[in-house]
Amino acid sequence: MTTELSPDALPELLERARKDYAALAARGLSLDLTRGKPAPAQLDLAEDLLSLPDGRHTAADGTDVRNYGGLQGLPELREIFADALQVPVTQLVALGNSSLELMHDCLVHALLGRVPGAESRWVDQERIAFLCPVPGYDRHFALCERFGIEMIPVPMTPDGPDMDEVERLAAGDAAVKGIWCVPKYSNPDGACYSDETVARLAAMSAAAPDFRIFWDNAYAVHHLTDEPVETADLLAACAASGNPDRVFVFGSSSKVTFAGSGVAFFGASPDNVRWLLANNAKRSIGPDKVNQLRHALFLRDAAGLRAHMARQRELLRPKFDAVQRILAAELGGTGLAEWTDPKGGYFVTLRVPDGCAKEVVRRASEAGIVLTPAGATHPYGDDPRDATIRIAPTFPVQDDLEQAMLGLTTCVRLVGYEKLSAS
Ligand code: PMP
Repeated sequence: MTTELSPDALPELLERARKDYAALAARGLSLDLTRGKPAPAQLDLAEDLLSLPDGRHTAADGTDVRNYGGLQGLPELREIFADALQVPVTQLVALGNSSLELMHDCLVHALLGRVPGAESRWVDQERIAFLCPVPGYDRHFALCERFGIEMIPVPMTPDGPDMDEVERLAAGDAAVKGIWCVPKYSNPDGACYSDETVARLAAMSAAAPDFRIFWDNAYAVHHLTDEPVETADLLAACAASGNPDRVFVFGSSSKVTFAGSGVAFFGASPDNVRWLLANNAKRSIGPDKVNQLRHALFLRDAAGLRAHMARQRELLRPKFDAVQRILAAELGGTGLAEWTDPKGGYFVTLRVPDGCAKEVVRRASEAGIVLTPAGATHPYGDDPRDATIRIAPTFPVQDDLEQAMLGLTTCVRLVGYEKLSAS
């Protein structure tokens, strides 16, 4: 971020930003750019789910979906998602509504039981730590906090986490039991892991014999361009590198069909799958197979999934375009901001001058525009540079989004120019 600004111009720019902010505050807006929720129009695309399974209750293999059982989930649904999640159907499990819940359960089972390869339960160890690429997903960090798992931040690059750091930390500290990864269109900076990153994650040495990569492929099919990004297959790479149990793959249909009533997936080595199913057998007699059947009937096959996501993209593209257009028009060339231009996923990351993010979020809130709290993208809510703001453009209608973005850029100018004037 370089400031291409002559000091003489600053008073006038600050004056204008103050006037714009006063006008913004006077409008009494009430807009929300916080969470990455699908908009109602996106949910409408899957409305037919509400009338499925349309009297049917038998799965392809003859299973009566109304009854107990079927811990691994319906094969016809697992077949639809297997390619997208890069997990063989036999190693893929289809479960309940939320992949976050599944990540929570995997942590609990690792703490209270033993993951394959573990010498002891995690809870019996003095210290447990996870590597946390930053910026990252606040709910991953919240899970670590919930269970007393220490978080070690690792900087993200456009190709994934800084692998020199990841390798150093994983090899040097047996308390490091895992890493959070959102490999495609990551939350929040849209980064996609390069082939080299995937290969290094699979092959690196880890001091903990039970080290796990929590591979949260939440945006595997959520493309925003004509050139879908393909990431390398980590599960296969781990097996080829002699570390078959290293990865837990997570995914869900939350942002494909209904965020509140989708299907979550778990993929891993045969040993890990047996481990999860044995644990699940204690907590449930089987997942909601009626929901799984209606998903299978609705999406039909992998091509049906792709076609559905193309319709999602038609709704989302104008919103992401508007974010880019407004940021460029209002902040381009000011030296006050940098931002990502993701090829998929749900978020844009805005970087403002150091020490300004919290103040921008506060000013926006006072003007009626709610943003994700600054710092949420970092472990313990602490962004040491106080510079990262996550923008979630999907939920508001187009006009509200554009108003919110214009307002946000006004706040960035106000806070940025105030800071420059003070320095
Ligand atoms: N992982 C990531 C990276 C996400 O961004 C989200 C939703 N914001 C989730 C998981 C939540 O997934 P689910 O609805 O399947 O619990």
